[in-house]
Order: sequence, then C-alpha cells, then structure tokens
Amino acid sequence: MNDTSELPGFAFIDDTFVPIKEARIPILDWGFLRSDATYDVVHVWQGSFFRLNEHLDRFFASMSSLRLDCGYSKPEVASILGQCVMRAGLDDSYVEMTCTRGHSPTFSRDPRDAKNRFIAFSLPFSWIIAPGDREEGLNIAISNIRRIPPEAIDPAVKNYHWLDLVMGLYNAYDRNAQNVILTDGQGNVTEGPGFNIFVISNGVASTPETGMLEGVTRQTAIELLEEINVPTTFKPVPVEEVKSADEVFVTSTAGGIMAVTTIDGKLVGNGRMGTITRILTDLYWNAHDREEWCDRVEDVITS
Ligand code: PLP
Repeated sequence: MNDTSELPGFAFIDDTFVPIKEARIPILDWGFLRSDATYDVVHVWQGSFFRLNEHLDRFFASMSSLRLDCGYSKPEVASILGQCVMRAGLDDSYVEMTCTRGHSPTFSRDPRDAKNRFIAFSLPFSWIIAPGDREEGLNIAISNIRRIPPEAIDPAVKNYHWLDLVMGLYNAYDRNAQNVILTDGQGNVTEGPGFNIFVISNGVASTPETGMLEGVTRQTAIELLEEINVPTTFKPVPVEEVKSADEVFVTSTAGGIMAVTTIDGKLVGNGRMGTITRILTDLYWNAHDREEWCDRVEDVITS
C-alpha cells in the first residue's frame, strides 16, 4: 500500500470523528507553523491499551509544562482514543494524541491569543523493526549530530522538534545503517527517533539519565529488569561503552524492546540478540495481559 490515506484509521479533530484520510489541520495552526505542540503515542495490542495511564499522565504533564490545555479531562481523552480505535476496527493500533497551540483569530504573534487544538488518531500498529526482523536485531549508526540540548527544549516534554533526529536518520542511511542514535555533544548517547537506549555489560544495565524523553517503554524495561534481578544504573553512557557492551537494546511504544546487533558497522557481542534482551523481549510481550497495565478498548469508552 503506497498511499497512507488508504490506511484504516480514524481521527478526532475539532470535536468531530472523521476517517483518517479526511482529517485536516488549518495551515495557520502554530502546531504546523512552529512545531508548537506536544503529543503522546500509546499502543493497543490485541484489543487493549498498554500502560494508558502512564501515557495520559505524561501527555497532561507535557501540556502543563508548555501552558497548553486540550480542553478534555484524562477520562475524556481516553474515551476519544478508544473511539478512534473502535471506529477504525483495529485490534493492534498506534494511537496518537496531540495538543497544538492552535491559531489566533487575528494572526497575532502572542501565543496567549491562540485557541489550543486537540487532535487524536488511530492507525495500524507501527513498528521500528518488523516482528520478522526482530531476531536479527537493528543495525544502527551513532551520529555526530547533537540532540537538541535539554537547556533549549526539555526532551521530557514529548515534542515534534525532530530535525536533528531526521537528519541523523539520513546520516545513518548514508552509512548503510537502518537507524540512528544521537549524542549529547559530550561523547554520550541520548536517544534515537522514537526510542531510548540501554546497554548491558557484566550483568548490569545502564541507560542515560538526562537529555532524553522518559519513555514509557523505558520505564517498563526498568521494571521488568528489576523483576529478573538485573540492576539498572542511570548515568551518562559514553559512545565507547555502547560499542563495547555485551548487549544493547532500544525501547519504544512502536515496537517494544528491540535488540541492536550492529553499531557503526561492528557487531555487538557475538552479533546475535543477547540473553537478557531475549528474556526481556519475551517478558514485555507477555506483560500485555497484565491487568494492571492493560485497559480493554471498550472499557475506556464512556459515551
Ligand atoms: N525518545 C523519543 C524522542 C521518542 O519520540 C519516543 C517515542 O516516540 C521515545 C523516546 C520512546 O518513548 P515511549 O517508550 O514512551 O514510546
């Protein structure tokens, strides 16, 4: 399928549900003109949202930090998301919620004059690495492009400032890699386009502490590592440490826990998915029936 407008999916915009191919935003919305927006993505797997409360909490915290108000409560947003999934008839879905600054009726330059806009949509599940390629793992490049520094834009507020990540992807493609990790300008890794990174050396996991989004899948990985008695340290992770690690994996709502088996053209460990990464990946997908982490789509729809 070449045309995404033919994908099954439903959107909610300006208080109305529409098939995804009919959803439009006005070009004067600051979300479009200035990337002035925040968003979150949750997935639905086999008819259930996974860790919906954590995604809603992060979305509302991000809005509050950017002085945005989507005009709906958390249960109302949950219900809208549920309806987008139900109307699209999807069992496995990528579900996005966005709040943009909106636009000012007078085209004033004062963001306080803008009327914020809430948008949500569902699409079929989106994978950073297709399930069939998960065993093989990812081939990534570490780019010299610096991730936007946290002092400029707080990466814990999920945002659309992706030009560093997108140019990093081109940088990776030019080096025959599938994906990219950006650095912090001081020799440490930060994150990639839509994922966090973990390294495992001598039975201990490490992941960056700052300079990245605090991913919900990252948090899930930390909790699952604890369950299997693998300690996690939060600290700057130098590029050299990543390259010499026993195992490396990345985490994302768009694909879960994914092994990295090649970095900058060199194999990680023996070039196969590591033992801990494999245990964790299985645990992660099995956790999709844990009651405390799952909400059936029909159960979150309130009207
Ligand atoms: N880092 C960035 C920049 C992201 O955009 C994302 C998700 O899209 C992640 C990390 C992973 O976060 P999560 O596990 O909540 O999907």
